[in-house]
Amino acid sequence: MRKPLVAGNWKMNLSGAQAEQLAQALVARVGQVDRVQIVVCPPFPYLLRVRAVLAGSKIALGAQNCHHEAKGAFTGEVSPTMLVDCGCQWVIVGHSERRGGKVQEKDDLIRKKINAAHAAGLHVILCVGETLFERQNNETPSVIENQLVGCLEGMPADKMASVVLAYEPVWAIGTGHNATPQQAQEVQQFIRNWLDDQFGAGLAAATRVLYGGSVKPDNAGSLLTQPDVDGALVGGASLVADDFVGIINAAPAGK
Ligand code: PEP
Repeated sequence: MRKPLVAGNWKMNLSGAQAEQLAQALVARVGQVDRVQIVVCPPFPYLLRVRAVLAGSKIALGAQNCHHEAKGAFTGEVSPTMLVDCGCQWVIVGHSERRGGKVQEKDDLIRKKINAAHAAGLHVILCVGETLFERQNNETPSVIENQLVGCLEGMPADKMASVVLAYEPVWAIGTGHNATPQQAQEVQQFIRNWLDDQFGAGLAAATRVLYGGSVKPDNAGSLLTQPDVDGALVGGASLVADDFVGIINAAPAGK
């Protein structure tokens, strides 16, 4: 049974006080929810403050990125072991805002981050997704497959057990234009079939594949009830307690 997972990516938003208030509101409203696994990913400087608020709740703490080395001369970077030290259980890697723009992270680096995160004991949310140009050129399957191969091919099964996939079409992130439930299902089924080919039916059936891209309370139900959608990675709507709670409440029982 794949338990639904709803993760909030707060990105570079909120003050420390606002982050605490948001975490307090979530703890009060969904802090003891067991049906859905809930993760929040605040900015690095607020991890310890949010950790203190989440203590005693079932909401887990995650980070938005990590470095691929455990320590060393990497000015401004944060290692997976440091994240664990700050109470994180999860880390997002491969987000399109890091694959694209000025950062230009490539699959081989993302693979190193997954390995480093696993070595530190973190669970990983690995994002994959195509741009609008790629979708319009019918390249979605090849783009997704290349990202999966680059990041995961040959990964040992014990590492895969700590990986959750997130299908995040780049054109749907922060735009208000979510993928239709059918579009999400089509790609997420493709991802599960790839997992089956690479790692076998057992791992494919056990691995959660989230959808991300303009998920809101009013579209969450139709997206999250698709057979291969096991939850959501939420950006903008995770900054508003009512909206994030609405998405959590829309998640159906595990599949
Ligand atoms: C994201 O950045 O991962 C995301 C899904 O953002 P939004 O929900 O705002 O589209």
